[in-house]
Amino acid sequence: MSRRVDDEAAFTAERARMVERDLRKRGIHDERVLRAMGRVPRHRFVSPSLAASAYADVPLPTVEGQTISQPYIVALMTQALVLSGGEKVLEVGTGSGYQAAVLAESGADAWSIERSPALLSAASARLASLGYPGIHLVLGDGTLGLAEEAPFDRILATGSLPRVPSGLTSQLRPAGIFVGPIGGLFDQRLVRIEYDPPHSKEETLCACRFVPLVGAAGWPETATHCPKEKR
Ligand code: SAH
Repeated sequence: MSRRVDDEAAFTAERARMVERDLRKRGIHDERVLRAMGRVPRHRFVSPSLAASAYADVPLPTVEGQTISQPYIVALMTQALVLSGGEKVLEVGTGSGYQAAVLAESGADAWSIERSPALLSAASARLASLGYPGIHLVLGDGTLGLAEEAPFDRILATGSLPRVPSGLTSQLRPAGIFVGPIGGLFDQRLVRIEYDPPHSKEETLCACRFVPLVGAAGWPETATHCPKEKR
């Protein structure tokens, strides 16, 4: 499909349609999230050859076998964080930086940790060029959280985990919220926890399928050496 990547007006219109058709009509109601999703240029977070599909409600491949989640799931996860502005949020799995930009546009003090140096530096350059200099990017194993910056008001895992790492939730402030996909390598449930030990409340938002978080409290590297992982 031939499509000029600098056709910004057309992308803006497509993005507005995406917000109404795939988000609001499907039950995303948080105006802060809808506004953020209407602002972040998703087409700049995928390769130019995929830009024409950037506002379809599908996950898209990025690099190193990773994906950028479908817009509806990004919106659902962000809405589940119940942001009112100023919350310190840790995202585990920076990837393209798209979710981090949505967090920043939602008014969060966004921190994001990524294990791949190449992905982190690409995301860093992209976010700076798009005018998101305030997002804090960190290289490391995010399944262990980011102890030196804890506590966080919210923690969002954007890759799958076999279970909720207690080392991660313990970096939440009381009444903080964790959201992330928990379960097997190929099927998970999107879990939301209101952290208030010993009375923490857990709910399942939906079934989902994310790429794995590989790390000390995530999946072992060897468990993920399977071609099926690459969707
Ligand atoms: N949120 C991203 C998509 C995340 S895909 C976006 O908006 O584009 C999952 C990401 O988690 C990948 O970039 C992968 O490299 C990263 N990852 C995997 N294991 C990790 C770990 N232990 N710590 C931090 N990042 C990890």
